[in-house]
Amino acid sequence: MARTIGITTAEDIATGLVERHELVGNLRIYKRESDTEPLLSMPPAGIAERFAEEIRSVAAGDPVDAIGIGLPGIINCGFIEESPNLRQLKGAHMQSLLAEALKKCGITAPVFVYNDADVLAAGLAATHGHLDRFIRVWTLGTGIGFGVYPRREGVWEGGHMVVSLDPRENYCGCGGAGHLEGIMGQRAMRLRFLDMEPDEVFENAKGRDQRCVEFVKLWHRALAAATANSIHLAGPGKFFISGLNAKHLDLDLLHQYLHEMVKMSPLQSYVFEVVPSSDEMGVIGAAVSAGQSAAE
Ligand SMILES: [Zn+2]
Repeated sequence: MARTIGITTAEDIATGLVERHELVGNLRIYKRESDTEPLLSMPPAGIAERFAEEIRSVAAGDPVDAIGIGLPGIINCGFIEESPNLRQLKGAHMQSLLAEALKKCGITAPVFVYNDADVLAAGLAATHGHLDRFIRVWTLGTGIGFGVYPRREGVWEGGHMVVSLDPRENYCGCGGAGHLEGIMGQRAMRLRFLDMEPDEVFENAKGRDQRCVEFVKLWHRALAAATANSIHLAGPGKFFISGLNAKHLDLDLLHQYLHEMVKMSPLQSYVFEVVPSSDEMGVIGAAVSAGQSAAE
């Protein structure tokens, strides 16, 4: 029976031991010290050492078969090609940095690095009995993540899909114009509404503040557009939605807009499911993915 360890960095650094798609014992959480994410101030080698410490604690001296880590960005074979929300990681070969840091702790199990939205998709698939089908997940947080399970060849940066041709739509963390994240991302919403927090924007839309009402429509249309694009490329199916701003979703409105955008009947069997953000899901997904990668 495989003993694998998963780590995610969605909120804090969460690490857990996983057997048979289930967490064994409690998650170990490395808390951020203040509002600023601790990872943001660390160089890649420092981050690798932090992870190695967490892994050593969770392994507790027993052997493990594989270790999986979810990080934000475009990740190719352990190399971080781009990470708009954790910029210092760009160009770092996290997989080898981690293997080195782990070796110093006496751990030689294979380590794999994945996109954090992909590990969430793997966790959702593993815990919802969907390991046999293609599923997608949107994560509505600081940035917009898009995860797929099973992982497919390609880049899959769905959060940066172009959903607007308006050249003034330029709030995306990557600098690109018209991107989904530039409308839906927490950071982008703060830049757009300098005078109110995103939660207040949604609250004020209920009070008929016209600027907020229009924005909330745009926010839903943007997610519908990106989902429609994905459906037109990869087919219909299950879309999970998670992340801190999933609480603001009006599923009826999202369905209404998507229905306007997807008209071909074989493509209309799509399903949305909003799932609470949990570190546990990402940790399980990272561990399950590592187990699969080690077995390949
Ligand atoms: Zn972008």
